[in-house]
Amino acid sequence: MSERAVLKEATADLLVIGAGPTGMACAIEAQRAGFTTILVDKGCLCNSLFHYPSNMTFFTTPELLEIGDIPFPSPNQKPGRDEALEYYRKVAEHYKLDVRQYETVEKVTGADGDFTIHTVDRFSRPSQHRARKLVVATGYYDLPNYLNIPGEELNKVTHYYHDPHPYYDLDVVVIGGKNSAAIAALDLWRHGARVTLVHRGAEMHRHVKYWILPDINNRVKNGEITAYFSSRVARITEDEVMLETPEGERTIPNQYCFALTGYQPDFRFIEALGVRLDEANDRCPACDPATLESNIAGIYLAGVVVAGERTNEIFIENGRFHGKLIANDLLAKNVSAAAFD
Ligand SMILES: Cc1cc2nc3c(=O)[nH]c(=O)nc-3n(C[C@H](O)[C@H](O)[C@H](O)COP(=O)(O)OP(=O)(O)OC[C@H]3O[C@@H](n4cnc5c(N)ncnc54)[C@H](O)[C@@H]3O)c2cc1C
Repeated sequence: MSERAVLKEATADLLVIGAGPTGMACAIEAQRAGFTTILVDKGCLCNSLFHYPSNMTFFTTPELLEIGDIPFPSPNQKPGRDEALEYYRKVAEHYKLDVRQYETVEKVTGADGDFTIHTVDRFSRPSQHRARKLVVATGYYDLPNYLNIPGEELNKVTHYYHDPHPYYDLDVVVIGGKNSAAIAALDLWRHGARVTLVHRGAEMHRHVKYWILPDINNRVKNGEITAYFSSRVARITEDEVMLETPEGERTIPNQYCFALTGYQPDFRFIEALGVRLDEANDRCPACDPATLESNIAGIYLAGVVVAGERTNEIFIENGRFHGKLIANDLLAKNVSAAAFD
């Protein structure tokens, strides 16, 4: 067999693209309703959570992160990333989920009742799976909202924050005014970085959690974190950052830049499946709210992708119920358990 020969892999009643908490919940509910399932993820199980900041704690209490009726025991009112990853691993194990990790879905052909899902692995080796129905639960964390400014391509600029230690005693800029920016700015400052926060709004965003807001506001008030509000980063160079502020242009020394300005679902991927986006409604994909089936028969949407650009509407705590809606529809449609041709 030549290296690039297409491997014919699994067949299932339902294939779920994305093994995040929502995708897992979809597979579990479909399995519990008697359907065979496969999950395919471009990264590891819960790949987005794995890439969250290492010191992060969730905003929600453990029971709101539970899926498949498996309790999430935690001594912490707000569990951390490692605990959540362990919990979801245990759930996958409990339900014996068939998760194909490190396999990216590139395209889908076929139609309702017999889709072919074309994937590639880490070494660009192609595979194909077949499924009667599909769920797209691809989240939003892979595609940052780019600033489109000169210097953004420099390797000192990142759209993800992981760990504070490498930035000790350095001048860092955090761009953004929501939770991620506030948390990163505080963590960096607490670990010895000199932090400048730049936000286009006049103050921190109203969505910043009530227990984080006073902390960041007090650090700014005390001058421990320098903040430029109603300002934007206009240009980034190797050693500096140019700001446009209400008081005019400022150039400040800078070694690293965290552009934490949000993320968006992969709309190109969703559209390529034939799913219509409502341009007048924050690019929400066309889908029936009762079943989550899209305008393409047999293709369902689940999790954060359902709300289009409104990525602050669906979280784990509410996306985890999407699986049940989809499983109910599969039952109602009496998806056949007969073998493929
Ligand atoms: C820092 C932070 C803290 C948060 N805290 C909370 C909280 O406390 N409570 C809460 O409810 N929510 C929280 N959220 C939001 C929550 O994590 C997301 O809404 C949630 O992960 C969405 O789940 P999902 O399964 O829809 O998507 P994801 O978890 O993003 O999963 C999508 C998966 O799809 C995979 N994928 C994407 N494209 C492809 C492809 N083409 N082929 C194969 N696989 C693909 C990705 O690798 C990923 O694993 C937080 C988010 C962040 C960033």
